[in-house]
Amino acid sequence: MVQAADKRAIFELLRIYHQSRENIRLLLEMSPMADYEKMGFIDAWQEEMAEFFARHGYCFACNRVLDRCECAEPLRPRLPHPAA
Ligand SMILES: [Zn+2]
Repeated sequence: MVQAADKRAIFELLRIYHQSRENIRLLLEMSPMADYEKMGFIDAWQEEMAEFFARHGYCFACNRVLDRCECAEPLRPRLPHPAA
């Protein structure tokens, strides 16, 4: 059924997300970047993750299929990143 496939897909997305988050954490830990630079880095990464989830049809904020997402503001990149 569609639901079982849905579940596997979100598990896979979350696995990738947690792995990515761990990588980012280690990277920032070792980085000489200033705090504000790290914040910008995390923001950019979160937008990338939101985009990644959306591409696979999921909401990054609530982990629901976008059709079933009830977030007030669907988590999608709002504005181009200033540094981009
Ligand atoms: Zn949502």
